[in-house]
Amino acid sequence: MSSIFDTIHHRLNQAVEHLDIPEDIFNSLNYPEKTLAVNLIIRRDDRSFANFKAWRCQYDSSRGPTKGGIRFHRSVCMDEVMHLAFLMTIKCAVTGLPFGGAKGGVSVNVKELSEHELERLARAYIKAFASMIGPDQDIPAPDMYTGGAVLAWMADEFDRIHGKKYRAALTGKPLSMNGSQGRTEATGLGGYYVLKKMIESGLCEDKTLKIGFQGFGNVASFCARYLAEDGHHIVAVSDSSACLYNSDGLDVEDLIRFKDERKRFSDYEKDKVDILDPDDVLTADCDILAPAALADQIHGDNADQIKASVILELANTPVTEEAETILQDKGVVVIPDVLANSGGVIVSYFEWVQNRAGDYWEKEHVFERLRQKIEKATADVVNCKEEYKVESLRTAAYILALKQIAEVIMAKNVDN
Ligand code: GLU
Repeated sequence: MSSIFDTIHHRLNQAVEHLDIPEDIFNSLNYPEKTLAVNLIIRRDDRSFANFKAWRCQYDSSRGPTKGGIRFHRSVCMDEVMHLAFLMTIKCAVTGLPFGGAKGGVSVNVKELSEHELERLARAYIKAFASMIGPDQDIPAPDMYTGGAVLAWMADEFDRIHGKKYRAALTGKPLSMNGSQGRTEATGLGGYYVLKKMIESGLCEDKTLKIGFQGFGNVASFCARYLAEDGHHIVAVSDSSACLYNSDGLDVEDLIRFKDERKRFSDYEKDKVDILDPDDVLTADCDILAPAALADQIHGDNADQIKASVILELANTPVTEEAETILQDKGVVVIPDVLANSGGVIVSYFEWVQNRAGDYWEKEHVFERLRQKIEKATADVVNCKEEYKVESLRTAAYILALKQIAEVIMAKNVDN
C-alpha cells in the first residue's frame, strides 16, 4: 500500500474510532472511486511536440457531484492528486456543500511555457477529461498555477466540445465568463473569517496578534490584508527567495504592490526589515503561523522549533502527521486545511449556484454568505471537538465530515 493511503487510512481511523457507526460504512473512503491518468501531447510554439502526465481523480461522490481544482505543478503526481481529492471530499462535507471531492493535476512547470502553450495545455486537459466533467458530475476549478485565464480556456473548450453553453461545469472563471464576484479573495478571506471565529471561541487570546505567512501568493496576501486592517501585525512573510521580518509589523499593502510587480523578497529593501532565509518564517517569533505554500513544510525536524501557538493551514497538508504529534504535545493548536482554506470552494459553490440560477450576486452579498457559511463550519468543528472530547481540531473536522458522509451512505443503502 502506498503511503498516501496509509495517511488517509490513519486520518479516517482517528475519527471513525469516536463514532458509533459501523466501520465498514467508511470502507469506500479508503480508495478513490475513479482516477484517470493520461498523457497530454501539445505542440510547442516552435512546432515541436511536448507531453505531460495528467490526472483527474473523483474520490467520493456520495454527497453530490465531485468538486475540486486542477493543479499545474512540476511535482504533481497521481498519489498527490488522489490525496488532494480525498481532502476535497472531507472539505466539502465539513462545510456542508452538496459536493463530493475531486482533484486534477498536470505535471508541468508553467514558467517554461509560453502563453499560447499554456492555452493549448489547458484545452488538451479538458479534451482528455471531458467525459468525466459536467455540472452534475464533476466540477473543476483553479488550484496552484491555474487562475482565471486557464479556467476561461478550459470552460470555452468544454463548451466547444459539447456544442452548448455550459455555465456551471467549471468554477473560478473570470467575471466576463460568468464567474462570481469575490472568488479571487475567497480563500484568503475565508481563512481570516475562520481565525476570527476561532479567537471568538477562545482558541487564542483576543489581543493584537503577531502573524507570519509562509508564501505570499493570492491566499496569503488577501488573508494578511484583512488581518492587518483589523490592527494585527504581520511580522514575517516569505517567498522562495527570502523571509522578511519586522517585529513591529510589515507594510502589507507595500508587500502586495511589490509582489504584483513579480519581484522577489530577497530584493525588498526597507528600513527595519530584516531579510532572512525563507525557512526562517516557520520559526519566527509570532502568535499565529499561516503556512500558505506547499505541502509537508512543518515536519518532524522543525516542528519542535515552531514558536507560534496557533497554525492556520492555508495550504493543503503543510503539517506532516509526525509534526502534528510534536505540535500537539507542545500545546500548539492546528486549524486544519479542510476548514482553514475552504473559502475557495465555498465561493466556487456560490458560482455554481449563480450559474444555474442565471442570477448574479454583488460582492458584498458573496462575502456575507461566505462569512455565514464558514463561521458555521468553524463553530460546528469547535462544538464537535468538545462533544467528542478529541484533542485536535483536525480529528473534530473529520468526525463532522464522516458523519455527513455516513448519513448519505446509509440513506442510500437501506437494509431490506
Ligand atoms: N483548489 C481549491 C481547493 O483546494 C478550490 C477548489 C474549488 O473551488 O472547487 O479547495
